[in-house]
Amino acid sequence: MISPTTPTSTSTSTSTSTKTKLSLSFLSNFSIPTEPIGSIPRPKYLIEAIKDYNEQKINYEQYLTICDKSLKETVESFLEVGSTVITDGEQYKPNFITYPIFGSNQVAENSKVGFIINFQDGHVRQLPVLTGKNLPFRYKQYASEYITRVKKMFPNVRIKQPIISVSAMSLIYPSNPQQQQHPQLDKYSKQEFLNDMLNEVEKEIRLSLMAGADSVQIDATEARLSLKIDPSGSLLKKFIDLNNQLLIRFTDEEIQKIGIHSCPGGDRSFHSADVDYCRLLIPSLFKLRLSRFYLEFAAEKEKLKILECIAKNLRPNIIIFFGVINVLNPRVESPEEVRDSVLQIAKYIPINQIGSCCDCGYQPFTSELFSRDIVFQKIKNRIIGTKMAEDVLKQVLSIGVNNINNIYNNNNNNNNNNNNNNNNNNNNNNNNNNNNNNNNNNNNNNNKNY
Ligand SMILES: [Zn+2]
Repeated sequence: MISPTTPTSTSTSTSTSTKTKLSLSFLSNFSIPTEPIGSIPRPKYLIEAIKDYNEQKINYEQYLTICDKSLKETVESFLEVGSTVITDGEQYKPNFITYPIFGSNQVAENSKVGFIINFQDGHVRQLPVLTGKNLPFRYKQYASEYITRVKKMFPNVRIKQPIISVSAMSLIYPSNPQQQQHPQLDKYSKQEFLNDMLNEVEKEIRLSLMAGADSVQIDATEARLSLKIDPSGSLLKKFIDLNNQLLIRFTDEEIQKIGIHSCPGGDRSFHSADVDYCRLLIPSLFKLRLSRFYLEFAAEKEKLKILECIAKNLRPNIIIFFGVINVLNPRVESPEEVRDSVLQIAKYIPINQIGSCCDCGYQPFTSELFSRDIVFQKIKNRIIGTKMAEDVLKQVLSIGVNNINNIYNNNNNNNNNNNNNNNNNNNNNNNNNNNNNNNNNNNNNNNKNY
């Protein structure tokens, strides 16, 4: 991780002379962090085990033993492809939203009143609903338990632990308890529930850090979705305020280890990709008291507009991990494509504030979109491509900022040659277009971010 005090720019207007003052120590320490988001496709035997557990054919201990096997294979695969930060692949989580209340006697599954998420391909996911029984509200399990299991097998790995946001979990409180046949909730207001929920999420983060998490990532798929439900942004503002009520409880030092992931959904299809990324979402996200932002980006069509928006709203001392791998497309991005994505980002965002990631987790529930082999090839190319970009940027920084166009154009020429030779597909054509746009941008803006 690059020190937040590294003397680089925090706006697009930083002068070339400032940038050339980068020290040799910065050059030798400079690296672009790259991390997974969370879930990895579960192997077939684990999908069977989940089904068997739900049908009470195996008990919880037997289920966990099978999860352990899958965890071991997952972490080994992460390490094989060179991942320095891993997750447990969410092999234990029944799903990424409601794992803390899985099996809880405080909620009802399959309720007619549970919050529904509609996806573009027509399928829906429905959240359980709080019934008012066995109050006050408590988590049944905390994500820190997963870290403990990883650390037993791999004591020295750096783990990022994804957890569900307090705002997503707030959706399990029915919008109108009386009408929705949960009269017990008359004596347990939504505010009381939110207070208990805040305590539980704070506890989960603290337990995760104590269990050895390198960082904790708050999954907030509901942020962009909220703008689809309420385009005015007032629901999003409530979500942001709620999360900040949580984050204010942590010290500045602790906040350095806490991040948030935002995406338009990644469950076979999107739920809110049609919602404008820039108008309210990005400015609102950056109001969160956080140091790390893991943003879906690779699947976006208007990348330059988004980069300009992020640059405009960026504040110092935070790192933006940009998605450079599309998790809903089985085509494996090449390392060169990843490199070019990062270099494109580096034209807008100060390099000490750039990281890369996959757009989202892979198959957060149990459906299979594509194989683990493809997923780990994507992860491998994300790591290789990010390092390639880092090397280009180091070269640029070491010889002077005015040479970025030469180096970058050389890379583009190489790509164009490769593309011509291979007579490649639309993706490469798109890549060429992006590169051309980048060149134009370079020419127009005199490369003002370096
Ligand atoms: Zn996601």
